[in-house]
Parts: sequence; structure tokens; C-alpha cells
Amino acid sequence: MEAVALKERENQIYIKGEKPFNIVCDKDSLAGAVSQRACVFCGSRVVLYPIADALHLVHGPIGCAVYTWDIRGALSSGPELHRLSFSTDLQEMDVIFGGEKKLRQALLELIDRHNPKAAFVYSTCIVGIIGDDLEAICRQVEHEKGIPVIPVKSEGFKGNKRAGYQAACDAMFRLIGTGETSGISKFSLNILGDFNLAGEIWMIREYYERMGIEVVANITGDGRVDDIRRAHGAALNVVQCSGSTMQLANMMEEQYGVPSMRVSYFGVEDMSEALYDIARFFQKKFPGDREADAIMERTTALVREEVRGLMPRLEKYRKALAGKKAAIYVGGSFKAFSLVKAFRLVDMQVVLVGSQTGTEEDYRELEAITDPGTIIVDDSNPLELTSFLKEKGVDIFVGGVKERPIAYKLGIGFCDHNHERKEILAGFEGMLNFAREVYSSVMSPVWRFVPRAKSME
Ligand code: SF4
Repeated sequence: MEAVALKERENQIYIKGEKPFNIVCDKDSLAGAVSQRACVFCGSRVVLYPIADALHLVHGPIGCAVYTWDIRGALSSGPELHRLSFSTDLQEMDVIFGGEKKLRQALLELIDRHNPKAAFVYSTCIVGIIGDDLEAICRQVEHEKGIPVIPVKSEGFKGNKRAGYQAACDAMFRLIGTGETSGISKFSLNILGDFNLAGEIWMIREYYERMGIEVVANITGDGRVDDIRRAHGAALNVVQCSGSTMQLANMMEEQYGVPSMRVSYFGVEDMSEALYDIARFFQKKFPGDREADAIMERTTALVREEVRGLMPRLEKYRKALAGKKAAIYVGGSFKAFSLVKAFRLVDMQVVLVGSQTGTEEDYRELEAITDPGTIIVDDSNPLELTSFLKEKGVDIFVGGVKERPIAYKLGIGFCDHNHERKEILAGFEGMLNFAREVYSSVMSPVWRFVPRAKSME
């Protein structure tokens, strides 16, 4: 490997097979390394904003509020208040004299105007510095307006994106337990960690319906405040993006005894396993129950039908893509596990995989499922990624908005697997879309006209 990593970052990069597994992760980014990571505020915003009937008010300078629905497009089947981004637009005078008055006025005006079911108020860096008492203002307004007004303690500088996930989970936990749970089926679950990009949660909900399982709350894609309030009445929490919502599942287990299960909806293998795991959970919880057995039968039929329909259609892509090289850099590493398996299904080789917020357990799992020589990297930056992509001769890079320009500048195909995408990549149907998108990008004739070969040599 070329010496591109700063010395202090070398232990956050691991090449499988070169030495015994050892990677340093889950720590603050190195100053000056221009990390691909988002801040604490962004971490909380991405988790909470898909709650479509809540007001989302960013308390801070207008720049923070640029992080809106436009760049994180979670869809809603009903209200669309989440698509509006509100900010208190703090100015110099507010920084000197405090922004509490402005925050209170903004909340009162917005609640009157939009009639939300709840309001989330996000702290940003400057609020942490000037010390506005969000808790007190939210309490006052909650009292006056009679809806939950919840401070999200997400000052941008107080840690990395994972601290933002925790702040979001803490905020949602204040809602959970405040709703009525009567009438919820014993075969029920909450969907945690899916954000309904391109409508994915609707497809996942349909699978659960076909299995005969009730979905109580979407947390948070196409989310509703009243559903979240009664989420503690579900029998199971099914957690996809575990980095962002596992803390909430743990808190719910501790306080309300709701067990949780980690799943992934990406790729045929993981999607099928997720449905079977859930069916098995209910069989184990209610041994001998005829409905639990019927759920398993319906699950088997569902997976068979979907896989039978999908595999022949994948064949064309597999033949064309076999042997091509892929690189993955994503926010949470749960997605990376599934992507490694999805690429394997079309006979492609993953040569680089990394994430913004992976834990040691996550990277250990990645080390177990990747091929020797694969670069595994935590909290990377453009310089490192560019160098790895060139060194490995990658054909397609999978990432998000910040990775896209790196790929295009190098003349490499790119697949958006983040919150900006408009195509379903989850579920069985999503696997086909994914293969089609990878195929279109890798095989595109455009690469004949860009200086890819030169930059990759
Ligand atoms: S909270 Fe801080 S780091 Fe995050 S966008 Fe705002 S100013 Fe930037």
C-alpha cells in the first residue's frame, strides 16, 4: 500500500491476511484528516427527521439547517411536515445575548401554524457554546401547547456521529411508553433503523403482512408520533441500522422487556434470513401455537416465491459482472456486511470495505466474511479512499453523497447506497435493482471517454 495514511491513522486500516486482526475504531476523528463522517447533529437529524408528522426545528445558525429532506429523501405515505426544515437562524446578537427567546417564539409560531403531533428541537454547536437551556424552553412550550416538545442534545462538536444516534434515541425514548397499547397482536413488531428511502419500508411491511405479523411502529421511516408512543406494546424490535437505533432497542428491552433482533434487508441471503429469524422467534416464544407455525409456513412460501422469481433475472448481470472489483464505504457497517454478500451473489470481488461508525465487533465480522487482501478501514478520508481505489483497480465504488465525487474524479462507476438514492435496494426486488444499477454503471460506455485507465495505472 502507498503511504497515504497519516501515521496516527495507520491502526484504523487493516489488510486481511497481512497480520492478526486488529483495528482501532469508535473514536473521535483525527483533527486535520478531513473525515468522511458527519457531525453529532447530523447523526441525530438523520434518525429523527423521517417522523413525518413531527416538527423538526434546528436551533442554530442557518447553515446547520441545510441538512434537510432534500438530501435525505425519506418518503411518507401521509403528512409531509418532515420535508420542511425549520431553523431559528441564530445571528451574532443571539450568540451574545442568548437564543432562548427566539427559540420559544419560533416554537409557538410553528406549532400554531403546522399543528404537529410533537416537536423535536435540535441543538447545534453554537447552542452548546452559549448554553441556551433547551430543556426549560421545551418544557414551557410543551406545557402551553399540549404536545410533546423534545430537546435533542446533539451539539455538533460533542463527539462523532454515533453520539448523534444516541441523542436521537434518547429523544424518542421520551415518547415511547406514553401511548395506549391495547389491541396490539401478540405477533407484532417494530421496524427500527429503516428510513423508507425510495419506499423501502412499505415493501418490508408488506412482507410482514404476508407473514401475518402486525407492524406497530416504523422507527423512523414513514414514522408517526402516535405509533412511536405505543411502540412498547410490540412483541419484538427488529433492528436494521443497528448503529443508529440499537441503543433505543436496548433501552426498550431494559424498561419494557421488549426483546430485539438485528437484521439486514439488503441482499437475498440476509433478507431471507431476517424473515426466517423473525418467524423462528415467534415459534420459540409461543411453542406449539398454530398461528406461530402458520407464520413460519407463510414465510417459507414467501421466500421461495421471491427467490424463484429473482434468481433467473439476476443471471444476466452475474455473467457480465463476474470478476469485477467493488469497493464499499458506508455510514453504518451493517450495510457493508450485506453488500459484501450481495456482490458475491453476482460473482464480484470486494477489495475495500469501510464505514464511518463501525465498532470492533462490526469490523471483526467484516474480516470474517471478506477475502484475503481486502482493505478494511474505519473513519476514512478522501485521500486514503482515492489511494485505495487506485491501488486496487476498482470497477465500482458504493457509498453516499461524499463518496460520489471521489469515484467520478477517478473515472470509476458509482452506486449510491445512501439516503440520497431514489431506487429501492432493499428486499428481493432491491437485489435485482442493485445488480441492474451496478451493471449499468460498470458496463457504461462512458468509461471509454474518461481517463480512467490512466488514473488507475
Ligand atoms: S452542528 Fe456544528 S458541526 Fe454540525 S453542521 Fe452545525 S456547525 Fe457544523
